[in-house]
Amino acid sequence: MRTPIIAGNWKMNKTLAEARTLVSAMRDDLAQLARDGKIEIVLCPPFIAIPQVAELVAGSPIRVGAQNVHWESKGAFTGEIAPAMLNEICDYVIIGHSERRQFFSETDQGVNKKIKAALAHHLKPIVCVGENLAQNEAGQTDALVGAQVRAAFQDISRDDARGIIIAYEPIWAIGTGKAASGAGANAVIGITIRGALADLYGEEIAQAVRVQYGGSVTPKNVAEFFAQPDIDGALVGGASLVAADFVAICQAANPKGR
Ligand code: PEP
Repeated sequence: MRTPIIAGNWKMNKTLAEARTLVSAMRDDLAQLARDGKIEIVLCPPFIAIPQVAELVAGSPIRVGAQNVHWESKGAFTGEIAPAMLNEICDYVIIGHSERRQFFSETDQGVNKKIKAALAHHLKPIVCVGENLAQNEAGQTDALVGAQVRAAFQDISRDDARGIIIAYEPIWAIGTGKAASGAGANAVIGITIRGALADLYGEEIAQAVRVQYGGSVTPKNVAEFFAQPDIDGALVGGASLVAADFVAICQAANPKGR
């Protein structure tokens, strides 16, 4: 049994004051939904808000994550944040989001280095993979996403692989309001992503790793994704910025949590 994990990626949104308002509005409901351990809920605010959000959810089962990390542990890397700085204040880190790949030139090799650095500092990576529209229409999804998974997991041990979370995020679905179909996302996750993991580590690990879907998830469409056998939760962007929407999405993952 894989425990569903729902993560809210706030991207570059919310001032400290707005972050406080948002967390205060959903904290009690989220804590209630996550209290029995049947789902994990992770809030990923911008770096600057992480300590405040961590303080606001302290003592609850709600977890906190970052949206990026550098692979070096310290030094002359102006503007970057090291994994040792993050593991003092949060538990998860999103790595290789398509916006980082697209706008900040992140590569598969960099993603692999970041995953290793995160693991070395006891941060749980949420690793994003996914194809763009042209690749999707050209029938390249399987090859591209499979290659992204293989590159991300290069030289990562079986034990470490087990704890990594993958987010399948077709780029054409992110922030567009045009979500993938549940069946389509399930096929990419079940066949391509778990297939690549099976090649690398065998079937047991392929079935143990949790894989989220991300891309225009809303309270309206979320049930379609959570009904799929290979989808273990969601990485949520826009809808994680609205307390009622994020609570409703988490509620769909743990309908008995109330
Ligand atoms: C994301 O930011 O990872 C994402 C999936 O965004 P949205 O839910 O807004 O499509």
